[in-house]
Amino acid sequence: MNPKNLIRPQVRKLHAYVPGEQPKVRGLIKLNTNENPYPPSPKVQDELRKAVDGRLRLYPNPAALGLREGLAKLHKCRPENVIIGNGSDELLALATRAFVEPVPVGVDRSSLSGKARSRSTVQYFDPSYSLYPVLSEIHGAVANPVRLDDDFGIPDRAVLRKRGWDFDAALTYVTTPNAPSGRGYASAQLDDLCAWQKRVTILDEAYADFAGENALSLALKHPHVLVSRTFSKAYSLCFQRIGYFVGHRELIAALDRIRDSYNVNGLGQVAAIGTLGSLSYYRKNIRQIIRQRALIARSLSALGFEVLPSETNFLLVRPPAFPACEWQKQLRDEKIIVRWFGGGRISEFLRVTIGTEPEMVAFLAAVRKILA
Ligand SMILES: *Cc1c(COP(=O)(O)O)cnc(C)c1O
Repeated sequence: MNPKNLIRPQVRKLHAYVPGEQPKVRGLIKLNTNENPYPPSPKVQDELRKAVDGRLRLYPNPAALGLREGLAKLHKCRPENVIIGNGSDELLALATRAFVEPVPVGVDRSSLSGKARSRSTVQYFDPSYSLYPVLSEIHGAVANPVRLDDDFGIPDRAVLRKRGWDFDAALTYVTTPNAPSGRGYASAQLDDLCAWQKRVTILDEAYADFAGENALSLALKHPHVLVSRTFSKAYSLCFQRIGYFVGHRELIAALDRIRDSYNVNGLGQVAAIGTLGSLSYYRKNIRQIIRQRALIARSLSALGFEVLPSETNFLLVRPPAFPACEWQKQLRDEKIIVRWFGGGRISEFLRVTIGTEPEMVAFLAAVRKILA
């Protein structure tokens, strides 16, 4: 028996999502995975420590009710409009299972057309979050990546249609602000896009806290729109894996039916509730990151980098003098890691997460040294 033959063909040939490196080198400055450079608030750390006792033997609240109530208050909606996930990645995956019809075994995906194709379509922009094509592939859906404009803007309706956009797609993911470009979109433009879409549309707002505006209200305005948020980027909680969706109670209830009963771990719930109790601490850090982002953008431009406008906690930059992958290696020799996405449309760019001020001073010093 060849164990390989026991695996669904779809899974056998799957190209898994490639996460950024988490190296264990001492003194390394890590600017490659958009983590927050500041620790969780002292209150959150304290509450986590206090929660590590005999309670660990008990199951956590299966519905993460306390956290959903806190988020409902924050976003002026009801707990029924909120679902918590083991990171927003889990919820993005649940959405494919709840809203997209997999292509039946034996049916050639490319042979599908019209309604049958739309019902099986997972749609997203290129470039955007590289997890979406993987989720589509795992589910056995039809992926429909559509090119953003050259400046990473969302094309107008006519151009979208020309590029093969499906206004009837079962599920559309929009990363806003966009990753990996960092570009933000006006809520009015997203509102139009949502209004044109006939089926489920997820606005993935992982970086919304670093942007001038956000589109959360669209999740409460349109019954087919879900907004995805995470505690990972702005709230220094990657380690605890907490993300959430806001949207119509029917869609939220559908996701709730298919999730694992205890999908959100207890310490994660404690940490996230604590976070909601110290928002001013996080807002201060967010402002500091935004200030640093402007400083670094100016300095890199002066050094000959092309710097794309960003409303996130990272910058996408095209380095001068030699190729981006060579820059990545040279920076690594200086103990600084940044992200390079080879192969695709942005292979001439580096993505640099905004760190603390001392980290960014070291980053700029390394850049100057390499240039010299
Ligand atoms: C980081 C990120 C996520 C995932 O966040 P988790 O809550 O940590 O799973 C989702 N979408 C985008 C665009 C991200 O950058």
